[in-house]
Amino acid sequence: MSEDCIFCKIIRGDFGTEFVYETENTVVFNDINPKAPVHMLVCPKKHYPSLNEVVDKELLGELLQTVQKVTKKIGLKSYRTQINTGKEAGQEVFHLHVHILGQK
Ligand code: AMP
Ligand code: ZN
Repeated sequence: MSEDCIFCKIIRGDFGTEFVYETENTVVFNDINPKAPVHMLVCPKKHYPSLNEVVDKELLGELLQTVQKVTKKIGLKSYRTQINTGKEAGQEVFHLHVHILGQK
């Protein structure tokens, strides 16, 4: 938990954000400014500033399994995933997240 991290606050339930899906170590919620008809973010519950800081192989696997599970749950067979790592690559929120973008 990072005190000034917006995603940590979302995960803690501070804003009452609805989770589209949740596993033991991950949550999925809708992007506030969607760039596609379906735009969800998969986050680890634990705070990691970016992909670069994660050494936990199980967590890395769980993040992608969550992508599989949430897209199956909502019936999305075709989608794009994106992980922005670092400011120069467009990362704006420094809590690791996987974008899922698709048409519905
Ligand atoms: P990135 O550029 O990869 O760091 O992406 C950050 C994403 O977080 C952007 O697509 C934002 O629209 C999204 N975002 C920022 N604040 C919120 C929020 N409070 N709830 C949901 N999504 C958010
Ligand atoms: Zn965080």
